[in-house]
Amino acid sequence: MAKKHKAILKVNSVNFSTGYLKSLMLAVGLILLFTIPFYFILGINTEKNRYINHIPNVVKSNPGKPAGTPVTFSNQKATPSAIPVNSYNKGTPAPQTYSGYCVNVPVLVYHHIQPEATARQLGQTSLTVDNGMFARQMAYLANSGYNAIWASDLVNALRNHTPLPPKSVVITMDDGYADNEIYALPVLEQYHLKANLMLASGLVDSNPDMLTWSEVEQMKNSGLYYFTNHTWSHWPVSEGPQSKINFEIDTAQSEIEQHTGQTVNIFTYPYGEFNNNAIQTLISRGYIGGFSTIPGTYQCESFIMTLHRTRIGNAPLSEYGL
Ligand SMILES: [Zn+2]
Repeated sequence: MAKKHKAILKVNSVNFSTGYLKSLMLAVGLILLFTIPFYFILGINTEKNRYINHIPNVVKSNPGKPAGTPVTFSNQKATPSAIPVNSYNKGTPAPQTYSGYCVNVPVLVYHHIQPEATARQLGQTSLTVDNGMFARQMAYLANSGYNAIWASDLVNALRNHTPLPPKSVVITMDDGYADNEIYALPVLEQYHLKANLMLASGLVDSNPDMLTWSEVEQMKNSGLYYFTNHTWSHWPVSEGPQSKINFEIDTAQSEIEQHTGQTVNIFTYPYGEFNNNAIQTLISRGYIGGFSTIPGTYQCESFIMTLHRTRIGNAPLSEYGL
C-alpha cells in the first residue's frame, strides 16, 4: 500500500514538473507573441517619425501623381513634408571645401508664409514665417538695394566665373505650399523680387495645403519664379535603392518641365540629406547645381552641388546677417 502510494506520488511529481515546464513555455511563448510585434511596430513608427510626424498638419499620405512614370513602386505614396526641425542638417557629410570661384550670396529658405494665427491653428509654426513679417523682410531687401536673383543665376555665375549684381540674394521656398501663392506672390510682385520654388512635384494638387498645378503655372507666368527639383515625393535621395532615387529625380524633373516649360537641372535636397551617390546621380543626369541646408552665405564652385542656405524665421532679415 505504501509502495503504491509512493509510486503514485512519483508519477504525480513527474506530472507536476511536466506541467510546470509546459506552463513556463506557454508563458514565455505568450510574452514573445505579444512583445515581438510591439517592438516591430515601435521600430516602424520611429522610422516614420523621421519623415512624417514632425511635420504638423500636412496630409500624411496621398496618392501622388506619377504621370508617365517609367518605374512603378508598390506601396508608393508621395508624402508631403518639409524639413523637420530636429533633423535639419542631418546627414551632412564632411565640411565643404572652399576653393575655386566663390561668391558671397545669401540663399534664404522659406517654407510656409501665412498669418501666424493660422500657423498656430494648423500646427505649422516651426515652418512658418508670418506673412506680415515676410512683407517687411521683402521691403527691407528692396529698400536696402538687394538684388534677388534666381538659383540658375547663382549656379551659372559659379560655373562661368562671372560676376553677379551687387548685394545678390536668392529667395527660396521649399516644397510648394499653397500659401506661397496666396501670401508670398503678391509681395514679390509688389517689390519686383525674383524667387525660387523648390518643388516636390508629387505633392502638387495632393491636398489643400499644397499648390495646384494651375497655381504653379500662375507663379511661372508672373515671370518671378524659377523652379528647382525637390524630388517627386520629398524623398531623401541619400537613401533607398538606386531605382527609387532615379525615379524621384526623373519624375519630378519631367512633371515640373511639363508644367512650367522651364529646363530643370538644379536640385534641392529634401531634408538637406545628400551623399556622394546622390551627387553623382544628379551630375550623371545633367544637373549643374544643388542646394543643401548647410548654413552659410559663401558659395563656391567646389561645392556647387551642395550650396549653402540660411533658414529664415520670424525676425527682421538684419538678424540673419543681411
Ligand atoms: Zn522640403
